[in-house]
Amino acid sequence: MSELLYGAPAAQAILDSLEARIAALRTRGREPCLAMLRCGEDPGALSYERAAARSCAKAGIRVQNIVLPWTAGTEELLQAVDRVNGDKNVHGILVLRPLPGQIDTQAIFRRLRHDKDVDGITVPSLARVFVGRGGGFAPCTPEACIAMLDHYGVPLAGARVVILGRSLIVGRPLSMLLVERDATVTLCHSKTRDLAALCREADILIAAMGKAEFVDENYVNPGQIILDVGVNKRFDGKICGDVAFDRVSPLVRAISPVPRGVGAVTTAVLARHVVEAAETLF
Ligand code: NAP
Repeated sequence: MSELLYGAPAAQAILDSLEARIAALRTRGREPCLAMLRCGEDPGALSYERAAARSCAKAGIRVQNIVLPWTAGTEELLQAVDRVNGDKNVHGILVLRPLPGQIDTQAIFRRLRHDKDVDGITVPSLARVFVGRGGGFAPCTPEACIAMLDHYGVPLAGARVVILGRSLIVGRPLSMLLVERDATVTLCHSKTRDLAALCREADILIAAMGKAEFVDENYVNPGQIILDVGVNKRFDGKICGDVAFDRVSPLVRAISPVPRGVGAVTTAVLARHVVEAAETLF
């Protein structure tokens, strides 16, 4: 049986590292605060909001929830963004997704102050990841993957990493963070040929496709470390990852489960970003 890479210890290590920093901020009269903006009651948005609130509560970060109706328009949400942008007691802003179809999502992202963009969705945040300059923060999930690998002592320099999925929120920025750490990265997507053969070559395989239990025994090798980023609903209603866990876990060196894997670290990284923003703003 392989080693199970649970997210909780990595998340706790991040939260523990914030304790002294938050205490130092308080002595300067600054209480780190995250504002979360949501439209409607989407279950995915609610679940991420709850998880973020839990991590912030553990760290001692104040949270402000701003909820608009699902019928809200772009202008209404822009006004809410302006308010938190200008509030000197708010240090981080998270715009929960999905947003309703009538909202111009890009206009919302453009309006967000990049130095409060703790979720890494603005162009300056992405520029920081891709060019090394810009502002803002890396998206939380790619940073959570790096934090997991570091926590479990997985060497990255020289490692062959295959990432399944090239989205701007996970795969692409993750590839840049790994290259920065001297890994050799292959970024795969729906048009990639010979996917299983490529995956079998990897020292580290990271699945972020959103395809329930797609990665099976044909994609892995016995020395492999697998991070499963996917969060999917299975045919029987259970939450599962992109990896067929029961079939793959006996065959590899280490694997992160879903749930209780990478997802648990994502909101700890978000909390760290809020503290960083509180330290550097103004
Ligand atoms: P996304 O925007 O839908 O991107 C999916 C990516 O997977 C695309 O690049 C797509 O390729 C690729 N893909 C789809 N089918 C494929 C196939 N058969 N073979 C190879 N590549 C394939 O999804 P996302 O937002 O990145 O999210 C991915 C998963 O991660 C979802 O399950 C999501 O719920 C989960 N997630 C988890 C966290 C966390 O904290 N744990 C955070 C964010 C997302 P194309 O580009 O060619 O279409």
